[in-house]
Amino acid sequence: MLALLTLIALRWGSHEKAAQQEEIEARAELHRLMNTLQARTLEVNGTLKSWANWTALYEHLRRRSPEFRHNELTVDALTVADVDFLLLLDPDGKVVEMSEVPGAQGETPVTDETRQRGYAYPGYASLSPQGSGCGAIKARSRVALVCFSLVLNSEGKGSPRGFLVIGQWLNEEMIQKVSELTGIRFGIVDVPNAPLIVKSPLVVDNVFRQELVQVLAQEHDIELRYPITSLFGNDIAQVRMSWPRRHAQLANSSYDTTQAVVIALILTCGVLLVLLLDRVVVRRLNRLREELAQIVDSRRWTGEVTVSGHDEMAALARYTRELVAVVRHQVQELKNLSQTDVLTGLPNRRAFNERLEHMLAQHARQQVPAALILMDVDYFKKYNDSYGHPAGDEALQRVAQCLRSCLRRELDLPARLGGEEFGVLLLGVTAEQAGAVAEQIRASFQGMGITHCGNLPLGVMTMSLGVAAVSAADTTTTLYRRADAALYHAKAQGRNQVHQA
Ligand code: GH3
Ligand code: MG
Ligand code: MG
Repeated sequence: MLALLTLIALRWGSHEKAAQQEEIEARAELHRLMNTLQARTLEVNGTLKSWANWTALYEHLRRRSPEFRHNELTVDALTVADVDFLLLLDPDGKVVEMSEVPGAQGETPVTDETRQRGYAYPGYASLSPQGSGCGAIKARSRVALVCFSLVLNSEGKGSPRGFLVIGQWLNEEMIQKVSELTGIRFGIVDVPNAPLIVKSPLVVDNVFRQELVQVLAQEHDIELRYPITSLFGNDIAQVRMSWPRRHAQLANSSYDTTQAVVIALILTCGVLLVLLLDRVVVRRLNRLREELAQIVDSRRWTGEVTVSGHDEMAALARYTRELVAVVRHQVQELKNLSQTDVLTGLPNRRAFNERLEHMLAQHARQQVPAALILMDVDYFKKYNDSYGHPAGDEALQRVAQCLRSCLRRELDLPARLGGEEFGVLLLGVTAEQAGAVAEQIRASFQGMGITHCGNLPLGVMTMSLGVAAVSAADTTTTLYRRADAALYHAKAQGRNQVHQA
């Protein structure tokens, strides 16, 4: 955005400067052009002076000589002198002689104009106090540079007998000559019926008036207009000069280059920024998202979150990893709590059943022998009644202690199934071995000697046990049912004993 604003400012600034520079240069060129026209006028004046002080011409004004007219005032004489027309006037401005080189189409504007004016140019008579001068005139919409002078004899003395006016058309030929000389393209444009506004007494007055310059800026050129004022003080035409806007083109091309460079820079920066963003942010966010999706989908909170770098993204990944670890830990704790019996610290029925299912599956796959022992404290209600509930709790804890000390193998799983009922899963043991383990538990518990006056004749706490070895067709229900039946038998046959299913 900043770069684009800079570009706009640059464009505006360079154009402004270029336009100013172009105008300054164009005005200087117009000045040079006007000086060249002035120089051309001075040449006409030089020719005029030699004629105006020509005694023969002076004499001809006093006494017209057809011979002189025939020999000297010819079109050829004008051509040799490099001028286009000549007027010889008496002091009142009446035309005495007139000669004109016809134009390319044979046109003779001065002759025509003179005829129209009735062979009188009183304007020159009114300029007589000046004696001589140069400027522009218009005849038949054509502009000419003219010089006029009083005609005197060769010593420059004697009373003037009239005026000599010599002119040169500012025609195409002349314009082309001056253009080639100066290298400036220009033209002369007629200003029809212009009112008399005295701005500059003579067109090619050597004072160049900047304030009269009209500037028109176009796309490729600057056009400058400068008024041509006639000898008699009215605007008759305009010099129109066109000047190529090289500075604007230069400014444009340098601006275009700058613009291309800036746009290339913006694009490069943009691509680099996108690549950097992708590398620094997008890719790492995607990886984090994928890792989290895996963790959530697995529901086991076991996956790892990768941490790389030391920036905000790394901090986010680190906190996410810690969060996952906290959740994992709490899930594990909840799971442990949900599978543990609070009173004895043994696995509860839920954990026991899970293991039992697992054991049955393993048995079905590999025919690993296994057995289930169910046990129940004898006359426990009476114990509670006699010694109180807290003592009952303590006794249950002693049962757990007894089971832990009897079952030392990794694969044995004791559990409290509810109330004063316990269970043991034995993996890799036969029915006999399981019976022996059950017998060992029974004896060990009796041996603990927990006084129980309600359990006569021994007077100590005992338990009854039912053992069922796993068979191929067993489900948890059938296995439980058989072990339970065996336990029922043990109770029925007098308690404190082991019964095999
Ligand atoms: P039997 O020899 O036939 O098994 O008789 P019993 O009295 O042990 O059988 P019963 O199932 O009638 O009684 C079980 C008692 O266990 C009843 C209940 O008060 C007690 N009990 C169950 N859970 C707990 C416990 O968590 N703590 C205590 N202290 N007593 C419990
Ligand atoms: Mg019971
Ligand atoms: Mg009982």
